[in-house]
Amino acid sequence: MKLSKFPLMSLRCINFSGPLISTDQDGFNLELGSTKSINATALWAITYADPLWILTNQSSLMCLAFNVKDKCICIKSNIGEISVHQSLKVKIDDQYLQLRLSPNVTADHKLTLELFPSNEYTNEIFPVFIAFEGYHKILRSIESDFIFNDQMMNSKILTLNDIKDKSYDYVVIGSSFCSLGFIHQICQRDPNAKILVLERGLQYLSEHHQHGCSSPPKHVELRSWTVATATAQNESIKNVYGQIPLFGGRSLYWSGWCPTPSTEQLAGWPESLKISLQEKYFDLAKELLNVITADQIRARENDHLIYNNFQTSLKQRLNEVMSIDTIKEVQHAPLAMGNDRSIKFSTVENLSYMKNVTIVFDCAVNKIVHDGHKATRLQTRQGSISLSNNAKLILAMSTLPATTLVLNSFSETEFPQLANVGKRFTAHFVSSVTARVPRHHLLPLPNDAAGVELGALYIPGIKEGAQYHLQLSAVAYTKTNNDDNIHKICKKYSANSISKECIDPSQDFVIVSCSTLGELDHKNKNNQFNLMNNDHDDLTSNGELTIQLNEQDEQLRNWMDNVTFKVMNKLSSNDDLEYWHENNQTWKKDLPSSDQIRKNCAVHDASTMWIGDIDTPVQLDYRLRGVDNVYITGGALWPTGGSWNPVVTIVAMAMHLADTIHDNSNSSSQ
Ligand SMILES: Cc1cc2nc3c(=O)[nH]c(=O)nc-3n(C[C@H](O)[C@H](O)[C@H](O)COP(=O)(O)OP(=O)(O)OC[C@H]3O[C@@H](n4cnc5c(N)ncnc54)[C@H](O)[C@@H]3O)c2cc1C
Repeated sequence: MKLSKFPLMSLRCINFSGPLISTDQDGFNLELGSTKSINATALWAITYADPLWILTNQSSLMCLAFNVKDKCICIKSNIGEISVHQSLKVKIDDQYLQLRLSPNVTADHKLTLELFPSNEYTNEIFPVFIAFEGYHKILRSIESDFIFNDQMMNSKILTLNDIKDKSYDYVVIGSSFCSLGFIHQICQRDPNAKILVLERGLQYLSEHHQHGCSSPPKHVELRSWTVATATAQNESIKNVYGQIPLFGGRSLYWSGWCPTPSTEQLAGWPESLKISLQEKYFDLAKELLNVITADQIRARENDHLIYNNFQTSLKQRLNEVMSIDTIKEVQHAPLAMGNDRSIKFSTVENLSYMKNVTIVFDCAVNKIVHDGHKATRLQTRQGSISLSNNAKLILAMSTLPATTLVLNSFSETEFPQLANVGKRFTAHFVSSVTARVPRHHLLPLPNDAAGVELGALYIPGIKEGAQYHLQLSAVAYTKTNNDDNIHKICKKYSANSISKECIDPSQDFVIVSCSTLGELDHKNKNNQFNLMNNDHDDLTSNGELTIQLNEQDEQLRNWMDNVTFKVMNKLSSNDDLEYWHENNQTWKKDLPSSDQIRKNCAVHDASTMWIGDIDTPVQLDYRLRGVDNVYITGGALWPTGGSWNPVVTIVAMAMHLADTIHDNSNSSSQ
């Protein structure tokens, strides 16, 4: 048994449902990471001696040995007793899970852990990620030849302590779209600006997951809020989707839809803001994000363009839907895939290489300390950091986390002008339908057409002032012995996902996956985001979300489901249209029931700190009302929710914020 060169080091095991894995004298437990300070989290020393990965818990002296050949786990307790297990029972809150070596990983020398529910009839698997202390990347598994070499030491993680004597012009919380939009634009105006980014997560992927990683990590979503009891009991919408707590945030996982709202769709937005966005910033944002329309995508596989004749034919065919009442337009989908490799845009590549940007990872900010007028200090999971006198603080951490931070930091008694924070809430509800028709019935294609082609269309509509849109991703394929190629191309290049189960390669088919998004009524005062009444020791997750659909929402939902089926009907003039029925995983001519197509989780939460000139939480210069140096970005600012996908708009506004700050500070110094 040869001891590898693998050095002793401390590591943390992270499961993205929140918990860290650690031991105590009672056995193997899961602790909620967010309730512990960084020094109290479970630290392990690790050695590798074929076939054993030996983890020693530094606080309890308990030793765990993972045998990668026999896939079993030995526990040596702190009094020296040894026991052997196939899996270990671990606890997250009130739920018990089993921890084991991943059975599907065949490489002998690799440590890959996973959690699964004790109930053996479920297939759900929760990966465990591994982070080394002092290193900013997390890993899904460790290889025996993983060594802390010079290169890694150079990328050693910075802590707040390392930078405590430095001063920064801008401190930005978050590292996703709004962060990059702001930083990119401020650097255009002031190339010497010194910028600090505080990010709660570590680095995992270096580009969008569709291309960057053969097996994207599941269960990395984090919902750092509670849902009010009445909302959790709703039939229809029970929550909104969560955060991706990693470097790059949701830019690593998004689908790339990039519509630009029209004047009509921006009804209710301040006039001056609308004009600035339309005259300048929408274009700048689209350029930064590499937005092009699907008919211009030049991605190739097997010597064929992926978006080509089929894209054109699909658009021609569905132009007919303009006859459906309330539909406004049929567009080739605008997608953020206009770079050389047609990779969906993510912020990681840009932010990693900006010279004047310092990033501190693993640094959740939980409170802004102020002097009654301006922010002076930040409290974080790593301790506190002072803001220098002229520093400006930019909250680029997405809607609900930013609102939680503001509510925890600026009380209504001290800042009555912020009484409306969280009193407005919008989001988009979603229905998803997948349909198919025989390929030759739908579209005449040239003989030399590619075996697999994709298409994507964006179709907005407005029903009595309430907005909705359809986003369609489609694949056209010819029959083949092997569905892997079809699936591989869909996975890599399609905007919405098209699941492998739907692909029947034994015949030529066109499959269309359509998500229809509609706006939650911004005037509905029942929808709110407030702090929970009871004491909560984690200030990043003590917000409470209430959503109650009203009549307008219900009517819009019915309308948009109706329109979706009408649009699908235009795919075929014969009686050969079939729908995917999720509940029994099969194709049928009947329409799927609404409980199969309606998602009970909303997306694109927004409007909690909307921007405007009177009585709004945020002023037109993006400043939090009454606070000199705190600026808001993202969906939180939206006066109304619309239905369009948010990224172009939030990036445009973050760029506008950068110019506004720069112009205002120049004019005040003159
Ligand atoms: C699967 C999926 C598909 C999507 N598809 C589309 C699409 O096609 N088109 C579109 O327009 N939108 C899409 N979206 C939505 C879009 O991704 C989000 O609207 C967008 O990412 C919001 O950007 P942001 O910069 O505001 O925040 P986020 O991307 O949420 O990033 C916030 C960052 O802040 C960090 N952070 C949070 N709290 C703290 C804290 N307390 N301290 C320090 N750091 C913190 C987070 O770790 C994260 O890195 C999609 C989202 C998902 C999940």
